[in-house]
Parts: sequence; structure tokens; C-alpha cells
Amino acid sequence: MGRIFLTHIGGQRLFSCSNCDTALTNRAELISTRFTGATGRAFLFNKVVNLKYSEVQDRVMLTGRHMVRDVMCKNCDQKLGWIYEFANEENQRYKEGRVILERALVTESEGFEENVDS
Ligand SMILES: [Zn+2]
Repeated sequence: MGRIFLTHIGGQRLFSCSNCDTALTNRAELISTRFTGATGRAFLFNKVVNLKYSEVQDRVMLTGRHMVRDVMCKNCDQKLGWIYEFANEENQRYKEGRVILERALVTESEGFEENVDS
């Protein structure tokens, strides 16, 4: 009961939960650093693992109306950001299925170097 299965994403420049250090995504999945969250600067990622999702919410943002879910760390439940389920505006559709992580809530670190040239 209560066993949590975590996914190892690997790669370099890992982004982890600032509370429990669970790896969430890496630099290769980063799309944009020019987003703003509740705590300030936020990052948009293509793929993030080890998340829990809230119910879908209808939220009006600076860039229009979106259907989003809040995302939490699967291991410790700390809120990390949100995921875009649906964007009303055509030019915001690229965000659908993408995940925002707030910079203040994640830790960026060097991951494992694989296939290092020497
Ligand atoms: Zn955590």
C-alpha cells in the first residue's frame, strides 16, 4: 500500500522537486524560460514525469482562456506548476499537453553524463 513508483528520466541538466529531490525532467525537454507563475519565473517543458494532477480548471491568463490542471510532485505532493489541457486561442495551442514548472519550486542540477567523448 502506498508504494510510489517513480520514473527515471535521465539526461543532463536535471530539474528536480526542490522539496524531495525527485527528478522531474531535463534540459532537453525545456521549451521556454519566459513564463510567469504564482511565485515568479516559470519554465515550459515538453515532458515532465513523476507528477500528480488536480481536476481540470478553467483559468483566464494573460494569453487568454485555458483549461489547466495543477501539477504536484508524485513523491511529496508539493505543488510545482500546472499543465495546459486546452487553449482557447489558436496561437496558444502549442502549449497543450505541455507542463509549466515554477522555478522557485524546482532545483536544477547536472545529471549523469552519458557517452562522454574523451
Ligand atoms: Zn517532491
